[in-house]
Parts: sequence; structure tokens; C-alpha cells
Amino acid sequence: MSLLEIRQLKKSFGDLQVIKNISLKVEQGEVVAIIGPSGSGKSTLLRCATMLESIDAGDILYLGESAFNSDKDGTPHKVTGAELKKIRSYFGLVFQDFNLFPHFSVIKNVTDALIHTQNKSKEEAYDIGRKLLAKMGLSEKENAYPFQLSGGQQQRVSIARALALNPKVLFFDEPTSALDPELTSEVLKVIKSLAKEHMTMVIVTHEMNFAKEVANHVIFMDEGVIAEEGTPEEVFGNPKSDRTKAFIKGYQ
Ligand code: ADP
Ligand code: MG
Repeated sequence: MSLLEIRQLKKSFGDLQVIKNISLKVEQGEVVAIIGPSGSGKSTLLRCATMLESIDAGDILYLGESAFNSDKDGTPHKVTGAELKKIRSYFGLVFQDFNLFPHFSVIKNVTDALIHTQNKSKEEAYDIGRKLLAKMGLSEKENAYPFQLSGGQQQRVSIARALALNPKVLFFDEPTSALDPELTSEVLKVIKSLAKEHMTMVIVTHEMNFAKEVANHVIFMDEGVIAEEGTPEEVFGNPKSDRTKAFIKGYQ
């Protein structure tokens, strides 16, 4: 059974259909890179998969459990209450602009949800948080505030915060696009180390070399559809469609 399965997903904003019948599966331990031009629906796909957006049609299943119930006419509605909480516990999300709480210290950013949603004791939560900060190379920043950190450090705190909740799959939406090139590599390094540990990840990225290196599966999105997908060798080495070729060439 797939860790995540998206079935025939459709999503419009007003008259604009942003996701046009997308289906995909993410298996345990897989790293999926999603590439594609701006406006092609990558963020919307991630937002639907993480239940930040409602969907118009289709289904999203984590470990075979649907996150939606359907009306008689087939309109999907998020499941409610305990089921939703359980499904939310399966994934973490790392945004482009870090989204840290500015008035919380680093350790508080990482541990707050552990204490307040998972009912861990402060000691237990800080223990988990400190281990993760060490892994991110940020032990000495435990008591700093976000404004005192570089963008790369802030993004690593945000990865630690997502990992603290022990998700089965981690989604990244352009995790390095707000960063200067010299800070990008430290964040990509951390993501690569997670891939080595077989963390399941779905990563929207413009870093083509990174996608080539770290992904098992590459999805090229264009105008709300999966225009092409395959292994990095297939998509980057031997792209089938002219659109994919042109897009990849733009990054060389
Ligand atoms: P990408 O992440 O690939 O750049 P997005 O998913 O952000 O693409 O956006 C796809 C399209 O949907 C764009 O045309 C964007 O303007 C539109 N869009 C995204 N979110 C909204 C929204 N909340 N309301 C209206 N239009 C939106
Ligand atoms: Mg986007």
C-alpha cells in the first residue's frame, strides 16, 4: 500500500482549473521531486495533499485511508475530528519562507507542537528538539530568535520543527528559493542527509542538480497536469516531451 496516493485530483480557483485530474503515488522511503514552471500548480498540489486546500474532485489517501468523504454527487469533504487529526499526523510541511514563530526561541519553535498537540512533557519535548537541532548543526542556536538567524539557519529550524512531530512524509515547497546561493547548499545538504536515512519526501524545487541527485522519481508539472514523470535519468537524461526539454534546458 502506498504511503500517499492522490487519485484524479481536480482543483479550481473560480474559473481557473489549476489541477486537472492528477494521480500519483508516493511509496515509503521514496523521494519525489516536483519540477515545473511557475504557475503550473505545484504549490496547489502540495496544499491539497496537506489539506490546506479543499479539493473539487478526486481523493487523497494516506496508507489507504481517505482524507475525504464524498457527497452523493461526489463532492469531496475533508473527514472530520479524530480521523483528520490522525491523517495530519502523517505529514509535515516545510515552506519557502520558513514560517517560524518570530516571538518564539528556536527550541520553542521546534518543541511547541510536541508539547501542545502531542502532550509531551517539556523535558521530553526539549530532548527531542535538542537532538534534531544537533542534527541540523544548530545546537548553539537553541535560545536564539528567528531574526538572529540567517535564512539557511531559519529553514533548518523549520525542518527540525517538522521532523519533531515524526511525520511519515515530509513535503517541501521550494525550500531554498528564498535563500542566497551560499545558504541554499546547507539546506540541501540537510535534505540529502534525510534522504540517506530513507525519509519519505515530496520536494517542489527549482534546483535541478539537487533533484537529479536526490530524487528516485521526478514529476514535471505543466499547466495543472503531470506532463512527464520518471526516474531522474529518464526525465533529465532523456526527456520525452518538447516542453520538458525546453524547461530543463532553461536551467542549464
Ligand atoms: P506554482 O506553485 O507551480 O507556481 P501555484 O499552485 O502557486 O503554482 O498556482 C497555480 C495557479 O493557481 C496560478 O495561476 C495561481 O495564480 C493560481 N492560484 C493559486 N492559489 C490561488 C488562490 N488561493 N486563489 C486564486 N488563484 C490561485
Ligand atoms: Mg509554488
